[in-house]
Amino acid sequence: MLSLYDTVSRKKIPLVPLMQDRVGIYTCGPTVYRYVHIGNLRTYLLTDLILRAVRFAGLAPFSVQNITDMGHMHQEQLEQTEDKVVAAARAAGKTAKEIAEFFTEAYFRDCRRMHFLPSDVYPRASAHVPEMIAVAKELERQGVTYGEGGYLYFDVTKAKGYGELSGAVLGEGEAAGRTDESIHLRKHRPEDFSLWLAADPGREFLWDSPWGPGWPGWHIECAAMAVKYLGTEFDIHVGGVDLRFPHHENSRAMAMTATGGRFASVWVHAAHLLVDGHKMSKSLANEYTLDDLDARGASPLDFRYHCLTLHYRTPMNFTWEAQAASSKALSRLREAFDSRGATAGATVAGGEAEVYRRRFREAIQDDLNAPRAIAVVHEAARSGLSGEALGVLAGEWDQVLGVGLLKTSPGKAAVDGVPAEEIAPGEVVDLALRRDRCRREKKFPEADALREKIREAGYEVVDGKDEPARLKKL
Ligand code: AMP
Ligand code: ZN
Repeated sequence: MLSLYDTVSRKKIPLVPLMQDRVGIYTCGPTVYRYVHIGNLRTYLLTDLILRAVRFAGLAPFSVQNITDMGHMHQEQLEQTEDKVVAAARAAGKTAKEIAEFFTEAYFRDCRRMHFLPSDVYPRASAHVPEMIAVAKELERQGVTYGEGGYLYFDVTKAKGYGELSGAVLGEGEAAGRTDESIHLRKHRPEDFSLWLAADPGREFLWDSPWGPGWPGWHIECAAMAVKYLGTEFDIHVGGVDLRFPHHENSRAMAMTATGGRFASVWVHAAHLLVDGHKMSKSLANEYTLDDLDARGASPLDFRYHCLTLHYRTPMNFTWEAQAASSKALSRLREAFDSRGATAGATVAGGEAEVYRRRFREAIQDDLNAPRAIAVVHEAARSGLSGEALGVLAGEWDQVLGVGLLKTSPGKAAVDGVPAEEIAPGEVVDLALRRDRCRREKKFPEADALREKIREAGYEVVDGKDEPARLKKL
């Protein structure tokens, strides 16, 4: 069974899907005002690895990755009263919408180059403001907000479990030191955060709301979209370690308070990538993109392989030398498979092959230990296994690694065959989860009423014995 390290419980926990027919996964996606750099791609590779490992475990992932296409005010933008997308648009003489569309496409292109399996939904933040307003209204109704003059804040002292994810303690440490939004203050404490902000004059993105014209805060974005597409409780939440606080702590606090649900069961965080020991930055000119790598002879799959030689929770120090060594190791591996006559498409493997197969599977299932899995691949390539057996194994393994182990079909097995299932929307999943709970609590009339509602939405729940329920389209 696949186990993943969960940031909240601080241990590896086995993945037990809430719904039998899908593993719901949410990833904080890019803010589309620039090309993504190799650090971002390392984090998105974690999502891809999870999707592939889930499929490898015989389960069906349902992946949602948001596109932040309206930018957000971080410190520097607050001072300029401009968000990232708007600022980039102004600099380029384009509209924010044009900038967002351009960089969204560029992002998708980079994902394809990296052989990332596509997510099922890529909700745009700008198209989900009504959902965000609904969450804010619900929080206001519960009396956990305050504000004036077009601003609405979330009072974190009223959130159950605040700090569980990041270890943040109210009034202490990183949380207390933050000055984001302090400019607009009227906040009761630094950790409180905005759900709604009054509009800056002439702002390109502007929405009406019960609190006046303005725009939503950043954290509410992911909470609203995750709940809309995955339901109030889903399996895995993914992001880079820098987002743990305040973004993830706040998304979680807000979603759990608004819905009463658990939100994500497992929180997975990717460690950062440094370049030559430094944080990437404009001033160091080391914010490398895939094109920069290409220009130095490292393909996207070379970079992918390079990332996989380190565990995702280990910080990665990118150097050109290390990348060159990885690129060479990958081509040697491909040659080894090639020279042994390994080809995709054969169907037999047994005996010794089974040992390698099992070791690879165990490594992946153990919190996605790709470096250990890659060591197994190298050993197998050097072993006495027949070309045919190697071909079968390489085909299987590349479903997970996606680096194009077999020259004849680089990465093919990995990118093809995404199941085009009809997957129930978040609201229906929610009904099914609520029904499950009612049944466990022996509230059968309520459970039956929920089944009826699910039917009205076009789905049937199929109960498995001692297993989570499954949703079938009627
Ligand atoms: P951003 O566009 O800055 O919000 O980042 C998008 C994703 O990339 C987030 O999940 C970040 O945590 C992640 N990320 C940002 N910088 C790095 C880095 N240097 N290494 C790895 N992941 C990063
Ligand atoms: Zn997010």
